[in-house]
Amino acid sequence: MPNRLISEEPQPDLPPQVPPRRETVRGHINIDDVSVVFCRNRTATVALENASAEIKPGEFVALLGPSGCGKSTLLNAIAGIVKPTSGTLSVDGEVVREPNETRGMIFQQHSLFPWMTALQNVAFGPKMLGAANPESVGRTFLGLVGLEKFKDLYPAQLSGGMQQRVGIARALATYPPVLLLDEPFGALDAQTRTIMHEELLKIWNNFRTTVVFVTHDVDEAIFLSDRVLVMKTMPGGIKCEIPVDIPRPRTSETLVSPDFAKIRREIISIIREESLRVFNAQ
Ligand code: ADP
Ligand code: MG
Repeated sequence: MPNRLISEEPQPDLPPQVPPRRETVRGHINIDDVSVVFCRNRTATVALENASAEIKPGEFVALLGPSGCGKSTLLNAIAGIVKPTSGTLSVDGEVVREPNETRGMIFQQHSLFPWMTALQNVAFGPKMLGAANPESVGRTFLGLVGLEKFKDLYPAQLSGGMQQRVGIARALATYPPVLLLDEPFGALDAQTRTIMHEELLKIWNNFRTTVVFVTHDVDEAIFLSDRVLVMKTMPGGIKCEIPVDIPRPRTSETLVSPDFAKIRREIISIIREESLRVFNAQ
């Protein structure tokens, strides 16, 4: 499918580090009664049971829950990497059947090609999609994450935080309506993570793609998102959704605000109730 946006070069009157702001009309995700059962060694694991949710274009949604609750499974199903056993998943009305350039994906590690420089990594997607000048698109997006100066370095020469920023630039460089992140900052130290949170929100503010962000960290989920889908285990699934009505831009002050504390208490109480249910069922 030709990508309408990829052929658009940055506007000449804009500074190169600011890609054209997208209108937020694409990236509408519908998760309709999706279950995923894995069968291995004659054992069936219900990784996700009857998950339903609607994610609006441009929305930032966090999938929050402990290990094993099906977060990655749901994200991979949206990406088209995992096929639902039952139910339907669609993006902008099209049923998801396989991965494609409309959904950019960022993992905790190993998101980059180690044999390519930062610029080559970012320019790779535009090149594959036949952009007129992939290198210029690559530079624009490296600029967006503040790494143009490091364009000729290889991933191994960059810090973990920088690698993830290149990963974000690479995922965004094909202008995907949906960006999927699976615990992308899990391997970073606490200070770098805090900086990355603010960086990611700045990028998202500039480039309103729909974001689905997987985490097991309550504070990270609340700080970043418009809505938290709290997940449950045994079997995995969506337990409930909590809107995060905290004004943006969010800063370090947000973390100590009464609104933040209220939502945090609410989510922690849901998680505790859920943990007790699982504990008593064992
Ligand atoms: P999370 O990301 O929340 O930690 P996952 O989605 O990775 O959880 O896994 C949910 C459940 O599905 C777990 O019990 C996990 O062991 C199982 N699972 C995930 N992927 C596979 C697979 N490819 N084959 C078999 N079981 C799997
Ligand atoms: Mg996972």
